[in-house]
Amino acid sequence: MIFLKTEDEIELLRQSNLLVGKTLAEIAKIIKPGVTTKELDKVAEEFIRDNGAVPTFKGFPNPNGNPFPASVCTSVNEQVVHGIPGEVVLKDGDIVSVDCGTYMNGFCGDSAYTFCVGEVDEEVRRLLKVTKEALYIGIENAVQGKRLGDIGYAIQQHCEANNYGVVREFVGHGIGKEMHEDPQVPNYGKRGYGSLLKNGLCIAIEPMITLGDRHVVMERDGWTVRTKDRKCAAHFEHTIAVRAGKADILSSFQFIEEVLGEQAI
Ligand code: MG
Ligand code: MG
Repeated sequence: MIFLKTEDEIELLRQSNLLVGKTLAEIAKIIKPGVTTKELDKVAEEFIRDNGAVPTFKGFPNPNGNPFPASVCTSVNEQVVHGIPGEVVLKDGDIVSVDCGTYMNGFCGDSAYTFCVGEVDEEVRRLLKVTKEALYIGIENAVQGKRLGDIGYAIQQHCEANNYGVVREFVGHGIGKEMHEDPQVPNYGKRGYGSLLKNGLCIAIEPMITLGDRHVVMERDGWTVRTKDRKCAAHFEHTIAVRAGKADILSSFQFIEEVLGEQAI
């Protein structure tokens, strides 16, 4: 069941999503070689709670029965999504996708950004740049009158034209009172196919793109998804509202990129 949002609901979604952007900016301030992913999680949880919100990821159930134990997902290098923060020490040349979710005033925020740790190889920086471009190309297609397949098609074309892999097993999603609502929003697809996009549809678009082969496997922890060939993966995510003419981006990378300055992808 797809719920279209009212203008008031979209404003509440925006508030929750802006808090995600600000939380990711707090993380941007401390990402450097030597920091553990657990420290990133601690900063995020405190900031979210200090702002009167709840981290939606914490305790999020999965089919294996083990709830997600942290407030952000930290996925390093070959990890694609859903990495669990822990004692892993980030080192120079790593990349880390930080995915964050908040619940505030009855509505969810969800956004992710892949950060460089110190000096990262040009080949990997390019993967990040193309993945972020693909996100915005997908958003350009999230307008009233187009179809879901147009979003996925646009993302897939851009990434495959750059010889990258597009992960199929995990996709974007509707978002509102629940973090994951209908419809699913794949990062691949056929032009002109799928559900019609209507004004007020709110979705998270989140390309998960690989440097090598697109296939992924699940780690033994039951959460962490990594590339099968262990090559790097990138992940960028925005929550948006479908509008006529141009989508309204409800989350924001502005706070993050003010912190990163010239280091921003
Ligand atoms: Mg997310
Ligand atoms: Mg999401």
